[in-house]
Amino acid sequence: MAVGKQYDYLVVGAGLFGAVCAYRAKQSGRKVLVIDKRPQLGGNIYCENIAGINVQQYGAHIFHTNNRQVWDFVNSFVEFNNYRHSVLAKADGKIFNLPFNLNTFYALWGVTTPREAAQKIAEQKTPLATEPQNLEEQALALVGRDIYEILIKGYTEKQWGRRCPDLPAFIIKRLPVRFTFDNSYFDDRYQGIPLGGYNKLIEKLLSGVETRTSCDFFAERRQWEAWAEKIVYTGEIDRYFNYEFGKLEYRSIRWETEVLACPNYQGAAVVNYVDGQIPYTRIIEHKHFEFGAQAQTVISREYPAEWQEGAEPFYPINDAKNTALYGKYAELAQKEENVIFGGRLAEYKYYDMDEVIEKALKSFEAENIP
Ligand code: UDP
Repeated sequence: MAVGKQYDYLVVGAGLFGAVCAYRAKQSGRKVLVIDKRPQLGGNIYCENIAGINVQQYGAHIFHTNNRQVWDFVNSFVEFNNYRHSVLAKADGKIFNLPFNLNTFYALWGVTTPREAAQKIAEQKTPLATEPQNLEEQALALVGRDIYEILIKGYTEKQWGRRCPDLPAFIIKRLPVRFTFDNSYFDDRYQGIPLGGYNKLIEKLLSGVETRTSCDFFAERRQWEAWAEKIVYTGEIDRYFNYEFGKLEYRSIRWETEVLACPNYQGAAVVNYVDGQIPYTRIIEHKHFEFGAQAQTVISREYPAEWQEGAEPFYPINDAKNTALYGKYAELAQKEENVIFGGRLAEYKYYDMDEVIEKALKSFEAENIP
């Protein structure tokens, strides 16, 4: 370590990206400090125990991956349960299965076979001559008018606060379309929730690592930069560069959490409310992620919200304008030799947890740590 430096690595943000980097740095004998502005560690996978139930404070996270290396990595810290995610959508009081599959097509149109369903979708589809230019075109080309209007349009527009023609096509590609009666939300081979909740994973990753919570990097930026040889930065990339080119836009969310005196409120971990006039997008009933048998239950209504300064930025908005602006910041980031930028906010990317872990592991391979 150079003279005057106190740490080999300062990790700004104790979410998954930061925690994996801190683990790898500690494992290789480097001196590392993790700071986070929140009062607790874990970033958006942090859980609070309410009425004996692990309540995911920052929205539902279901671990899923096809990457064996990532799966082995997380399993070296915690075991996972056999939870398989499937989602219900409530539209005009009726329940539909998600992602779109034969159960959904049966409930919508009464079709009972793959052939009938494919025929129905073919009638409904708007074929495209070129690549879809936006989410509406993508949805109409993929599943057609009925599904777009009943299950996609209202949900998507309230989630993102933008019209579907103004949103990028890739968002909807996250959802599979299946001609089987398979309600699994994810196609991935490995899935589950850590036994005992996500905090266990973070605790294990950060075991033996020096951490400071309620500690804002920007309050004493000069000091941190002077103390650390290298920085792993997981916060908003535009803030790191003092908004030099202007501000990136984010989508925020707020949750209203309630303890209810009944053992089972909705019979599933996630029910989406797809009608445009209902202000929340979904209700999460946390106990179902861990097959809880408690007498009470805890639910969270999820309200999408416009992001303003001071609010929590949850989703990057990868439309053309913001993507171009991010590109300018990414160029600056490349020139910062002693800083690793990673995670949803620093890379302005709609990342899943397994991708974040993979990226963090790769970033540290590049560090040539033995
Ligand atoms: N989506 C939809 N209707 C639904 C669920 C999802 O139209 O009932 C679309 C919507 O555009 C959303 C995208 O699929 O932004 C991805 O949904 P997902 O549930 O994967 O989003 P996340 O859980 O990451 O917020």
